[in-house]
Amino acid sequence: MQRRARQWQEAGKAVVLVPTMGCLHRGHASLMERARELAGRKGRVVVSVYVNPRQFGPQEDFARYPRDLKGDQRLCRAAGVDVVFAPEDAEMYPADFSTAVAEEKLAGGMEGAARPGHFRGVATIVAKLFNAVQPTAAVFGAKDFQQAAVIRRMTRDLNFPVKIVVAPTWREADGLALSSRNQYLSPAQREQATVLWQAIKRAQETVAQRPAAAARLRRETAWTIAAQPEARLDYVEFFDPETLQPVKMVKPGTQMALAVFVGRTRIIDNARL
Ligand code: AMP
Repeated sequence: MQRRARQWQEAGKAVVLVPTMGCLHRGHASLMERARELAGRKGRVVVSVYVNPRQFGPQEDFARYPRDLKGDQRLCRAAGVDVVFAPEDAEMYPADFSTAVAEEKLAGGMEGAARPGHFRGVATIVAKLFNAVQPTAAVFGAKDFQQAAVIRRMTRDLNFPVKIVVAPTWREADGLALSSRNQYLSPAQREQATVLWQAIKRAQETVAQRPAAAARLRRETAWTIAAQPEARLDYVEFFDPETLQPVKMVKPGTQMALAVFVGRTRIIDNARL
């Protein structure tokens, strides 16, 4: 990959990277479309497919995370992707690998608090992918809002010459954000999983009337989630979309993010209110 990347760079080509963990769906495809727009017809679009062990906690679903490289390659071909970069673990992490990249401000709350070490794993693999692919731009999904903020900060802090682009969340008709993990849901759980979007909509409607205390919206969100028998709220936060700092009063423009267990499956979502 690195040799090819150098050739593209010497030819002055735009190279746009879409990092993924595979099991690709329509949401990923929308990032590829954005990547093609950014790369132009003469540029290159690279999709990396790598289930990065270092971003999973010891109790998480690394071993059973869905993998389908053949299907991924088909989807990438259909989306006009130039290269699918699917490295092996040994290529990414030699046995004596001993370095990590850690963003230390934005990565602390929400997903970082619920999943210790997660963003360290994410920042490390994205830094490695940037070095391997040498992209001029990289596209991430707003679905993982905090991740995009951490990557943007890391890119600036470490002087990666990469433009970070964040593309909107792709949703099912009933509002559920597409995710590779949705496959884990039983039909009953799948129905209940729309509760995240319902909670977001409800908060959106409330603050469209007048600003509301975050404490009140947290309570209302907890009730909305609790109405579904298999759903359990992990966290909900209301925060400034730039600094990720929690706010006391929520108004239009505040970001809302939540994580919910539906059965054993952990689902996250977020939106600008
Ligand atoms: P993943 O394979 O889940 O690690 O996701 C790879 C990239 O796709 C990340 O930048 C995600 O934010 C993005 N992504 C995942 N699901 C969606 C979605 N429903 N809509 C838009 N982007 C998504």
